Amino acid sequence: MELYNELIRETEGLLAGRPFRRWDYEPQQAWEDTGESELVLLRDAAYELGGSGKPAVHFTCVTTSPALVEKDEVLLWGPDLRELKRDSPYARIALLRVGDIESDDGDDTVAYNAIKDMEFVRYHVFPKGYMLRFSAESGREQVRLSKRALRDGISFRQVGYDFICRYRENSNVLAVKLIFITAPEGPYEALAACGRRSTEITRTLCTILDGLPMDCSACHLKPVCDEVEGMRELHFGRSAGEGSRRR
Ligand code: SF4
Repeated sequence: MELYNELIRETEGLLAGRPFRRWDYEPQQAWEDTGESELVLLRDAAYELGGSGKPAVHFTCVTTSPALVEKDEVLLWGPDLRELKRDSPYARIALLRVGDIESDDGDDTVAYNAIKDMEFVRYHVFPKGYMLRFSAESGREQVRLSKRALRDGISFRQVGYDFICRYRENSNVLAVKLIFITAPEGPYEALAACGRRSTEITRTLCTILDGLPMDCSACHLKPVCDEVEGMRELHFGRSAGEGSRRR
């Protein structure tokens, strides 16, 4: 699965040269997960990540490359949760290394379903006092943080471990690089553009797997295929595979 590799490189390029902190995964240090959604009322909130109309970016990329996602780790660009005093811009990027999720008979739906399963993880992580809110339309991921969680010492390191723990429940996931960004200077606009491209890649994959006819000259997905290495080969290869299966 190399479709997202260019996007991963671009994301890392956007963050290169900026100061950051990094922690290896320690599962026993993960922040408590309530196992179900928890309401943090406004009066109990310290602040919101992505609140007051500030950026709130999230996207997921999948790769099979150990060079791009070497091991389980959490990285943070910007202030940690206890260093923030008010609403802040925010981005969370999940880079997942997977095993061979393409099936032997060339059935790409296996790969697509594996990616969807991984994306669903974001809706099943419930760090205590860290209320996640999503907008499917805009792709925003906003967080309301409780005063109590701050008093109890919550940190991105521990919240990141909770996310990694949930991603790693999927046997296809071999390593997770989880990136948090709260630096006031961003670069949120460029990251949001990367997020839109990640969504486009996943949607294009979905449309191809739904059996889109192979006519690039009349296809509305051409801009994506022109840009994403491997997408066109995937569609053509899939059609050839279907042909050989039919024969
Ligand atoms: S390979 Fe061609 S037909 Fe297939 S999705 Fe891309 S542009 Fe469309």
